[in-house]
Amino acid sequence: MTNDLLTSIGSKSEEHEFYTPIPPGYKPGKTKYVVVFGTVMSGLGKGIFSASLAKLIQMKGLNVAPVKFDGYLNYDAGTLNPYRHGEVFVLDDGTETDMDLGNYERFLNLTLSKENYLTGGRIFTNVLRMERKGEYLGRDVQIIPHVTGEIKRFLRNLAMLRKADVIFVEVGGTVGDLENSYFIEAMRELAYEEGRENVCFIALTYILEPQFLGEQKSKAAQLGINKLISFGIQPSIIACRSHSPITNKIREKISIYSNVKPNHVVGIHDCDSIYEIPSILKQNNTDEEVLALLGLKTKDKEKEKKEFAQWKEFVDHLLRPKSEVTIAMTGKYTEIRDSYASIINALEHASSVLQTKVNIKWIETTEIEKGKKELKEELKGVSGIIVPGGFGKRGAEGKIACVEYARKNKIPYLGICLGFQIAVIEFARNVCNLKNANSTEFDSKAQDPVIDVLPEQLKVDLLGGTMRLGGRDVEVKSGTKAYQLFGNKTKIRERFRHRYECNPNYIKHLESKGMVFSGKAPNVPIMQILELKDHPFFMGVQYHCEFTSTPLKPQPLFVNFVKAASSFKV
Ligand code: GLN
Repeated sequence: MTNDLLTSIGSKSEEHEFYTPIPPGYKPGKTKYVVVFGTVMSGLGKGIFSASLAKLIQMKGLNVAPVKFDGYLNYDAGTLNPYRHGEVFVLDDGTETDMDLGNYERFLNLTLSKENYLTGGRIFTNVLRMERKGEYLGRDVQIIPHVTGEIKRFLRNLAMLRKADVIFVEVGGTVGDLENSYFIEAMRELAYEEGRENVCFIALTYILEPQFLGEQKSKAAQLGINKLISFGIQPSIIACRSHSPITNKIREKISIYSNVKPNHVVGIHDCDSIYEIPSILKQNNTDEEVLALLGLKTKDKEKEKKEFAQWKEFVDHLLRPKSEVTIAMTGKYTEIRDSYASIINALEHASSVLQTKVNIKWIETTEIEKGKKELKEELKGVSGIIVPGGFGKRGAEGKIACVEYARKNKIPYLGICLGFQIAVIEFARNVCNLKNANSTEFDSKAQDPVIDVLPEQLKVDLLGGTMRLGGRDVEVKSGTKAYQLFGNKTKIRERFRHRYECNPNYIKHLESKGMVFSGKAPNVPIMQILELKDHPFFMGVQYHCEFTSTPLKPQPLFVNFVKAASSFKV
């Protein structure tokens, strides 16, 4: 029935009301879909839920591919303010995405691409471009069927590209937002066309537990799920986020109101680490229930056992540290942890390997600049300092002061992107005696512009998607600390997102005073890793080392930084 439906639909929309472009070679039923929706409120961790479930299915030997839909009209996440939306995660192909893509890469150990992320802005851009090309000739272009048709095409292309057994679709936002309504509608159509046995809908919801009542309440959850059902989407599974484990009464209430069997109402209560969610889902048998709903079977039981044990070991080590260490992280609006999500994750990966708990102390460097806080006081008890990526001059002088303190007091230092540039400025000022050294990002008329705009950036006039972006090769100089950290490799691949660089005119001068550039771009003089010799750990990287760290493959820079911090005597 499904096959007939799809072939009869065809792709020319003038003859009938359907518009469902099916990519050549696409076989309906070959790829299954799990679609996750959010109800009640945002911030429930849909991405983490989806990544955790996908992880369990992947462990069974099935090929999974995640995708995130974001309803907003931005073309990508590149121009979003990380302090409002969380960090901008950069994929190897240079796509600037929502931070959830970071969770998918970390959980699934996959290298994702622009085919795994779709915003409203991009889908509308594509539709309007096609309209201009005359692809919909004769038709009034509509949300249904054209926009929804392109969304389905996007998924089917992904299915073919990744040869996916199961695609995990995360619909961003909350059911009821106008913004994501066409994504929801496209998912309803998808189930109609692919067949209900090939699509599993999951609603993530929240169970309230007001302090003044001291008991769990399911009404908000019921209303949210009813809203989803009113769009023609009957969830097969309902995942309930809650503070404490959900009671049987709540499970039964949700079940009766939503037509979902009680064993398909899954409780996910607050836990210490996001990495525990796969185990919670396994305890609920959710992975097996999803397989059964989709008519799939575990392909490799041995692999599943082994990989689940590895995952559990990672989580156990993370949650049962034998020692602890405090590192300082500088930045603006530092209280907003989501803007540094990947760094926090990378530190956790290192933390598990070393079984050392990493406490993060946030340092607002503008307060140091204004003299409101004493640097020495702020860094008391701190065994390592990170200056993460950032843009603009706010707090820059305070960051330079932190790096000077780390260099002089031999406190382990890791500079990431902007942190690499800050280390160059500090060294130029205080070691090379170039007192007016600066970045032209902070002072366009700097007397010694040791950090300057990349030549390729001079011709750029648009802001979105124009930085030096994505995965690039880094040539590592043998005999250096970096060479040793990367297992004596002379070539690694890392992810970049920057407009400025170490000014090539100053490289010789900096090197003559002892700065070692241990990693550079293969054919151009773009410096990518720096280190200092007479220091236990002083490294800066022009790239974002945090994007490539995963639980099972932690990034050596973080592991060795935390190790060095652990040996620092405070
Ligand atoms: N603002 C700096 C640049 O554009 C650093 C960027 C970053 O830290 N991602 O080069």
